[in-house]
This record gives sequence, structure tokens and C-alpha cells, in this order.
Amino acid sequence: MDDHAIGDILVKPDELQNRVRELAAEISRDYADRDLVLIGVLKGAVFFLSDLMRQIEVPCEVDFMAVASYGSATKSSGVVRILKDLDAVIEGRDVLIVEDIVDSGLTLQYLLRNLGARNPRTLEVCALLTKPERRKVNLPTRYVGFEIPNRFVIGYGLDHGERYRNLPFVAVLNE
Ligand code: 5GP
Repeated sequence: MDDHAIGDILVKPDELQNRVRELAAEISRDYADRDLVLIGVLKGAVFFLSDLMRQIEVPCEVDFMAVASYGSATKSSGVVRILKDLDAVIEGRDVLIVEDIVDSGLTLQYLLRNLGARNPRTLEVCALLTKPERRKVNLPTRYVGFEIPNRFVIGYGLDHGERYRNLPFVAVLNE
């Protein structure tokens, strides 16, 4: 794609696929004989989640939540509104939240509290990307794909104004 907004590539397609395979192997080991429900956070996590789930070798289900953060497009306020809730009841089940990116961590903190209140048996997080420099709250992220520097990134599900989700790599947005 000849687009000047697409900057340096931080994670190449083969690096993404290799890491997804490793994470899926780890999850398959950890959740053998469990009741695994993957919860994808719309829309960004859909791409990562569908690649991840196809590599998981234990029985599992998928469900989705859509949330909106009050605040600007590039800055999370931590005040989150649920646009679409789960279809499934997760009480007593082994829930794994699948996120595209953890930035300040405020969105995830809200989700962990909200889903934790529904009494799942276990509640863990699998995030493709994390920006440690930006973290405002300390959260238990059990599975992490890549740590990236404090840059706004696009691709592999991540958008800028709803575009670029289809890029097969993760790149810095040139502003
Ligand atoms: P947090 O609440 O952790 O600050 O923000 C999480 C959400 O902000 C992510 O799920 C994602 O939607 C958005 N976000 C944070 N950093 C980036 C980024 O670098 N690129 C894109 N496209 N979205 C981001």
C-alpha cells in the first residue's frame, strides 16, 4: 500500500504469525481440561483473536464485547461504556480476555473489574502488544505478544480513523 501514513514496520507478518503460534501453544498447555472462553474486544482484537484461536488445540468458545472509552481517539480516559455485552454467561468458566494493545491499561482495568464481578473461575489476559512506558495501572497480563515503544501503531487490527486494520504487519503511524 503506497500510503505515507504507514511508517516504520515494528512487527513483520512472519513475526506476528510465529508469536501467535507460540502463545497458542502456551494457552493450549495451560487450559487443557478447562472450560476456556476467549473474549475479544471489538474491533481491534478480532484479527489477532481469529489467528490465535485457530492455533489453539483445546476446546474453546469465543464471545465479544464492544466498549467505548470516553476521551479522544488517541488517549484513553479510563471511563468506559459497554456498547455490546457478552452473549455468554461466564460464571464458573475460564475466561481469557484477548486484547490488541494495552496502552495506559485503563480500558483493561475496567474490563477486569467488570468481568471479575461475574465470578468466572479464572480470568486472564492475552494482549498482542503492550506499551510499558505508557502504563498507568499495574495489571496482570499473563500472555503478551510484543512490547513496543511509545508510538501510535496501526495494522493487524489496529486502526487510525477505522482504516489500516487490514495491514498484515504492525507499523508506526506517520502523523
Ligand atoms: P488504554 O485504555 O490501555 O489506554 O487503551 C487501550 C485502547 O486504546 C486499545 O484497545 C486501542 O483501541 C487504543 N490504542 C492504544 N494505543 C493504540 C495504538 O498505538 N494504536 C491504535 N490504533 N490504537 C491504540
